[in-house]
Amino acid sequence: MRLQDKVALITGAASGIGLESARRFVQEGARVTVVDVDEAAGERAAAELKDRGHFVRADVSRAKDCEHMVAEAERQFGQLDILFNNAGIMDSGDDDAIATEEDVWDRTMAINLKGVYLGCKYGIPALRRAGGGAIINTASFVALLGAATPQIAYTASKGGVLAMTRELAVIHAREKIRVNALCPGPLRTELLMKFLDTEEKKQRRLVHIPMGRFGEAKEMADAAVFLASEEASYLTGATFSVDGGITAAYVTPE
Ligand code: NAD
Repeated sequence: MRLQDKVALITGAASGIGLESARRFVQEGARVTVVDVDEAAGERAAAELKDRGHFVRADVSRAKDCEHMVAEAERQFGQLDILFNNAGIMDSGDDDAIATEEDVWDRTMAINLKGVYLGCKYGIPALRRAGGGAIINTASFVALLGAATPQIAYTASKGGVLAMTRELAVIHAREKIRVNALCPGPLRTELLMKFLDTEEKKQRRLVHIPMGRFGEAKEMADAAVFLASEEASYLTGATFSVDGGITAAYVTPE
């Protein structure tokens, strides 16, 4: 087991990548604090993990909530070894710079970018108390490539996550805290399927993916297990792309 006796906190763990990661982490021997704003789905996720999971409702854009989620993880399981800042939104009003309203920009930044900072603000002292640990921040391939299907606030927020991840990694390297960014490609999750809500929009994305298919949340969870585990002991500050080859491609096969 690759995460034997480790304690993890995963934000956005009621659904998608976070939920699959919670399941995988538990299979690998970890105990998991499931964090989400969606109480019903969060409770369901934690119940599935039985005595190896518990749910804490927190909105990652709020400092008090982030302080609370970390305190609850330590209270429930005695320590914190793995912090997975994964919660994120794609607002349906997120478009190009002209069409995107300020409230969409502010909400996206508050959850996707400030949420990662707040997770670290309260999570890093807990990792220190445990003698070190691993942080994984979910960014996106859109932090590396521009798209003509614009989502300007989302893209900017994920670029911020990547830059912040590198700096966190450098600052905390000597404290045995590794910090890496997971950059998923386009996934067949609710989040993206809601955004690419017509067949035409889906095809427009698929043509750029060398593998010719959307990724699965499960495939991100496998990558997260690796980043969280001792197998990644010399890996920090990395942009870890798991994207079906999309960031490698200039022209994709027919
Ligand atoms: P998802 O919508 O299935 O899950 C996101 C979860 O985050 C939900 O359970 C939601 O309730 C929760 N959440 C939203 N706002 C929150 C807040 N303020 N506080 C706490 N929890 C909150 O989406 P997913 O695809 O699993 O996305 C997870 C991460 O992966 C996100 O950061 C997303 O940007 C990123 N990502 C997704 C894709 C994709 O194609 N789906 C691609 C690249 C990156």
